[in-house]
Amino acid sequence: MKYNFYAGPAILPKEAIDNSIEAIKNFAGTGLSLLEISHRSKEFDAAMLDAQATVKRLLNVPDGYEVLFLGGGASTQFLMVAYNFLEKKAAYLDTGAWASKAIKEAKLFGEVAVVASSKDKNYSYIPKGFSIPDDADYLHITTNNTIYGTEILEDFDVNIPLIADMSSDFMSRPVDVSKYDMIYAGAQKNVGPAGTSVIIIKKDALGKVSRTLPTMMNYQTHIDKGSMFNTPPVYAVYTVLQTLKWLEKQGGVEGIEKVNIEKADLLYGEIERNKLFVPTVEPGSRSRMNVCFVMNENYKDLDKEFLDFATSKDIMGIKGHRSVGGFRASIYNALPKSSIEYLIGVMQEFEKKH
Ligand SMILES: *Cc1c(COP(=O)(O)O)cnc(C)c1O
Repeated sequence: MKYNFYAGPAILPKEAIDNSIEAIKNFAGTGLSLLEISHRSKEFDAAMLDAQATVKRLLNVPDGYEVLFLGGGASTQFLMVAYNFLEKKAAYLDTGAWASKAIKEAKLFGEVAVVASSKDKNYSYIPKGFSIPDDADYLHITTNNTIYGTEILEDFDVNIPLIADMSSDFMSRPVDVSKYDMIYAGAQKNVGPAGTSVIIIKKDALGKVSRTLPTMMNYQTHIDKGSMFNTPPVYAVYTVLQTLKWLEKQGGVEGIEKVNIEKADLLYGEIERNKLFVPTVEPGSRSRMNVCFVMNENYKDLDKEFLDFATSKDIMGIKGHRSVGGFRASIYNALPKSSIEYLIGVMQEFEKKH
């Protein structure tokens, strides 16, 4: 058995993978594969509607919002957000590499006010107490910074529209959707395979920019056609649906949040206790999804040895991103608590050797 701590694409519930394999062989009793049936068939149409409804159910999405499944990854949302919402000026919170990429795209469309940045300390904290220009068209935040392991766990109260990249903590906890004009997430971190982004968008927030939008870049196109303007990423949507059905059985986002808190507390606790390791993120900004840590100053040269040791114990994907170094354990919804306990055991065994 392998213990999967990859940051993304990342661990999925076995049940979701099994159901998707079955659908590839025989989709919804049609005798055809999910991969060879029309997206306009009544069977796929039902799956798309079910996926949209399940997102709405899980997050208590209020009336007036639409759920979309679009290709191109979260990175395409960086430009679509600015295309559709930035008339003159937008505010962005710079909390890491993904936030910076979103800022870069927004600058192609207008003025960008970076309201705060944690770049001064290699993005190891979430900036607090910054002010937001009230003449900005929206504030863009990245709730979970996959690379640096920081997370914004509250729903901001702001006087301008709020847009959030929730790629790596989407569906890991309840959020108050009514506080956001738009939420988007690449599926491959916490809710499915690569190939689709999930978008929750407030319908009356659209139509406020004066530029002409290319058809595919216009959210309205996809709202009008229920994410079926062109061929949607059928396989990815179906697997997201299976993952969300599994999530509902875990007690939804409320149920999984409890487990996610327990998992994160356990692992940060061990990193703090173990003489070999230190966390890279300040308390109060630590992510429940991506736990970043490095070797303690006195044990710096053990970096590679620990990685090799962990790999020999079937622990996969804990090498830290090159911009942080050390280690990153991504502990998404589908990663069981027992895998955290196993990793902790391996960390303790390594400690005993030194
Ligand atoms: C991975 C990630 C992205 C980019 O996702 P793609 O689907 O690869 O474009 C954007 N934002 C965050 C927070 C991410 O973790």
